[in-house]
Formats: sequence, structure tokens, C-alpha cells
Amino acid sequence: MRVHAYAAPGPAEPLVPTVIERRAVGANDVLIAIEYAGICHSDIHTVRGEWGPQPFPVVPGHEIVGVVAEVGADVTKHRVGDRVGVGCMVNSCGECANCRNGDEQYCVNGTVFTYASPDRDGTSTQGGYSTHVVVDAGFVLSVPQGLDPAAAAPLLCAGITTYAPLRRWGAGPGRQVAVVGLGGLGHMAVKLAHAMGAHVTVLSQSLKKREDGLRLGADDYYATADPDTFTQLADRFDLIINTVSADLDINAYLGLLTVDGTMVNVGVAPGPMSVHGFLLGSRRNLTGSMIGGVALTQEMLDFCAQHGIGSEIEIISADRINDAYERVLASDVRYRFVIDAATIA
Ligand code: NAP
Ligand code: ZN
Repeated sequence: MRVHAYAAPGPAEPLVPTVIERRAVGANDVLIAIEYAGICHSDIHTVRGEWGPQPFPVVPGHEIVGVVAEVGADVTKHRVGDRVGVGCMVNSCGECANCRNGDEQYCVNGTVFTYASPDRDGTSTQGGYSTHVVVDAGFVLSVPQGLDPAAAAPLLCAGITTYAPLRRWGAGPGRQVAVVGLGGLGHMAVKLAHAMGAHVTVLSQSLKKREDGLRLGADDYYATADPDTFTQLADRFDLIINTVSADLDINAYLGLLTVDGTMVNVGVAPGPMSVHGFLLGSRRNLTGSMIGGVALTQEMLDFCAQHGIGSEIEIISADRINDAYERVLASDVRYRFVIDAATIA
């Protein structure tokens, strides 16, 4: 089926309206009429060629919410009319140790990501800046009633990417959690860590968004441009979630961890980083995390419905995608742009 979409024709080019082909609905597939698609900084890294060569034209978008329009003969989990979501992946082998462990994003035989990824049929996947998408039912999430569909879209990437490390490294009562960068991922990390009961500190470049940060659930808010911040907060945090999309002085942040504290990089900096051995010598952990498995993503959506958590969003029409990219790059997003898919056709 031919559907409308917005694609980047090449790495240095703005996104333009286009028409793409979606596969016919197979026995295990779900056809989704897309309502909303969030704009993630990863979309920008990808189409700007910062993550290596891409199979252009690329339709980005991995924060998808819509309504089921058709299901294949073998699909029992979703019905026509259900509100559903799709995140960063659309398939995996289902058989390797990681898939069986619920870590489909680390499939050793190759996770199929939602866009710019080789699909099983040899084509390249195309993402959510589009009116419709066809996805294997196993990778389609149920969006609980009570969640606003537009505000739920960013949960499918920004939500699960921060929920996964918060859960894994035990954010909860009595734990000191710092969130570096108050953007799309960062603001979700603040809301989720607060709902889990942790003491939450935002480390932002400036104090410009302090009021917002406190309203979203932060207990403390510091500017990283102020060198005193790093002396004041030394040895403070059990967990630091770093959401920054640029190179950072990682050593300055490692010094803020307790013994056995953990810094998790979810932001993807372009360059290699250098780490000071003495800082790790105090039994501090430095690690990373990529999105989260299907079951954990459903758990996160249910947690958000239970706690009334959605993303703070600005809904845009599709003809404003390129402007929105510039604003994300300028840290001028409060706190996620979401495309109204009705404006794509
Ligand atoms: P975003 O909305 O642009 O947020 C990033 C925030 O980082 C900005 O709002 C800004 O916060 C801070 N920042 C930006 N440039 C900085 C600099 N030069 N120095 C210090 N801080 C800076 O982006 P996002 O969508 O949240 O994504 C963040 C990163 O996570 C991206 O690299 C993205 O590719 C990656 N990501 C990873 C995963 C994963 O699975 N691991 C999933 C999704 C996204 P302040 O203004 O508060 O300082
Ligand atoms: Zn993303």
C-alpha cells in the first residue's frame, strides 16, 4: 500500500513530503493508522549522517501512537480500533539468549529497528513520520486508556530509554538520582524517577528551565556551567542518568557518584570518551543502556497510566519538522515535539 510520509532525501537535506510503500498485512502483522509521532534527537543524529551512512531516503520516527486499522489472520493480541504504540524496534529473531531474556533490542541475530534498518524482506524499514505503518504484532504495544495519545507517543522511546535504567539500577525511596540534560529523555527521567520515589536532581547547562524541572518532580536543580556545582555535589549520587547528546567531561560527573554508584549513558555522544582511572578506582560504575525490551516497554506504559505520566509536548504540523529539528539542536525544546500525523497526508 502507498502511504504519505516525510523523508530525508540525503544527509545534508531537509525532510520533504513523499510517498512510500508499506508491505501487505501478513498473518502476524498489524496495520496502524498513525495519529502521532514524536521527534527524538536520534532521528536528527541519523538523518544528519552523524551515525554513519544511511539507506536514504529515510523516513524517521520511532515514537508512534495510532489506532489499529487491520490485523492479520493469526493476530490475537490486538483488535481493530485498539490504541497502540510502536517504539524503536519492529522485529528480532525471538530465539537468541537476549530475545528470550526480554532484551530484543540486543538480539544477537540483529534487531530490526523501526527505520533505516534492514528488514526481513531485504527492504529498509521506514519510520513513523507517516500516515500508516505495518508492524509484527509482537512489537506492537497497548496504549492504556487514560493516557493522552499525543503525550504518550514520546514514551515509546524517551520513556522506555529512561525507565529501563531507573528500574535496573534501583531508583526508589532513599536513592539519590541525578539526571543530566533536561530535554526529551531528561524530562521523562525526572518524572519517572520522581514517581518511583527517588530524590531527583537535575544537572542542566543553566538554570533557565529550573521552574519546569521542579514542577516535573525534581527536588534539586543545578547549573553545570557553574564549577561550584561539581564541588558541592561530590560523592552524592547513587545513580546518574546522562541524557546529553554531545561530548561531556565524563570525569566531572563520575566524581559525583557514591562508592558503587552508577553512571548510565543513554545519550549518545559523537566522540570517544576518556575516563580517569582514579575515579573508577572508587568502585564507581560507568555503563550505557539502549531503549528496553517489549515486556518492559509495556510495563512502563502501564506504570505511566497508573501514575498519570505523559510527556510534556508541543504538537506540530509536518511542515514544521525541519524547524523543530533546529530547535532541538538549540536545546529549545519543551520537552518533546510531536507530529500530528493528520497533517502528513
Ligand atoms: P534532546 O531533547 O536534545 O535533549 C538533550 C539535552 O542535553 C538538551 O536538552 C540539553 O539539556 C543537553 N545538552 C545538549 N547539548 C549539550 C551540550 N553541548 N552540553 C551539555 N548538555 C547539552 O535529546 P533527546 O531526544 O532527549 O536525546 C538525548 C540523547 O539520547 C541523544 O544523543 C539521543 O540520540 C540519545 N538517545 C538514546 C537512546 C538510547 O536508547 N540509549 C534513545 C533515545 C535517544 P539542558 O538544556 O538541560 O542542558
Ligand atoms: Zn528515540
